[in-house]
Amino acid sequence: MSQLPRGTRDFTPEEMYIRRYIEESIRKTFLSFGYGEVQTPTFEHLELFTAKSGQSIINELYNFTDKSGRELTLRPELTAPVIRFYVERLQMEPKPLKLFYLGNCFRYDRPQKGRYREFWQAGCELIGADTPEAYAELIALAYTILHNIGLKDFHLNLGNLSLIQALFKKLSVSVNDQKNLLPLIDKSQFDELLDALKCLGLSSQIAEEVVALLQTSDIPQIQNFFNDTPEVHKELLKLRQIITLLQQSFQIPDVSVKLSIVRGLDYYKGLVFEIEAPKLGAEKQLCGGGSYDLVGLFGGKDVPTAGFAIGFDRSILALETQNVIFPKPALDIYIIPYDETCIEKSFELAQLLRKDDYQVDVDLLRRGIGKSLKFASTKNARHAIILGPDELNRNVVMLRDMRSGEQQSIPVAELLTYLKKSRT
Ligand code: AMP
Repeated sequence: MSQLPRGTRDFTPEEMYIRRYIEESIRKTFLSFGYGEVQTPTFEHLELFTAKSGQSIINELYNFTDKSGRELTLRPELTAPVIRFYVERLQMEPKPLKLFYLGNCFRYDRPQKGRYREFWQAGCELIGADTPEAYAELIALAYTILHNIGLKDFHLNLGNLSLIQALFKKLSVSVNDQKNLLPLIDKSQFDELLDALKCLGLSSQIAEEVVALLQTSDIPQIQNFFNDTPEVHKELLKLRQIITLLQQSFQIPDVSVKLSIVRGLDYYKGLVFEIEAPKLGAEKQLCGGGSYDLVGLFGGKDVPTAGFAIGFDRSILALETQNVIFPKPALDIYIIPYDETCIEKSFELAQLLRKDDYQVDVDLLRRGIGKSLKFASTKNARHAIILGPDELNRNVVMLRDMRSGEQQSIPVAELLTYLKKSRT
């Protein structure tokens, strides 16, 4: 009973310091692309998620009935909640509307490294724009976020669900058979896919061509396969424009086309993309996104929508595989009252310094200078101030540089100026 629930985690102050630091970087990048932050509730009506994905999604949810009999669920993702919010209150906002969020999600997943039952996503929705440049900027934003948090080894793959649909149409695969093929495509299980295609009556040659198509990054090869039909031509032209913008304007060199990205056909349509960190092994997918249709389903006026979600926890794991040195919590000043007579003045000084945005702690245990200085070191304090009766009488403080160990007595009136100088 007194244990952590399966698939959840506690975070120490050191871990929270890193998480907040990375969150801030992500927030800054979203803002720098003109996005505004939104927040939605942690739980929603169950129907919000079953409307598109069907009842089967309930297996993956933390759903419950509240005291009034409402069917609710902890949110498994934030796209549906943000689109609900848009339909309810934001439809009249000027377009394009750029919304971002950082929030916890809950899925009844089988926990393992990089897969939790409570995890955090950083994501966004772009509402009202479907030009190639809109998609290029969206994808570049996901890439820039990961770049700005310090990630180096990651890959961007673009897919297109209209082309997958065109493929099924060309091969005359029924909707039922599509359902069996999609998971094999999604998981890149190409040997099994080859067998499944042959079972559907396709010749070995065609089945092999399909498998090759799903693995190629070569746009002319894709074009040849479809004999350049008008719809495919349009999609490929858009894909080309997006790739050119990503490479030339956004300076993202490693963009690959990977048609095997399907991301659940019931949700997305057209362009889809994924970013993965190969070093993470099984749970290597850091980000997934694309264009989708939800607004109409929630009763809103049809409008193009696209977005992505970055796995916050996995991004930190990916940074750890790179041995990134994260910042540590620190104090600017640790104040040590020399004896009981100096306690009041110590807190007065602490309050004065806090007003000037210094992070200050005061010894609460009356444990003597030596032990207090050791404690100040463990708290990563930049300076310690020792306040004794003698110093108080002379209106000075004893300031100790915790790096060099040097001490000097400084008039209280000059302390702030001195600290400001040593801060830079
Ligand atoms: P999705 O909403 O399934 O497209 O997921 C978007 C991103 O969230 C994925 O690329 C992962 O990085 C992350 N993610 C999804 N499920 C989990 C989970 N159970 N635990 C941790 N991260 C997850």
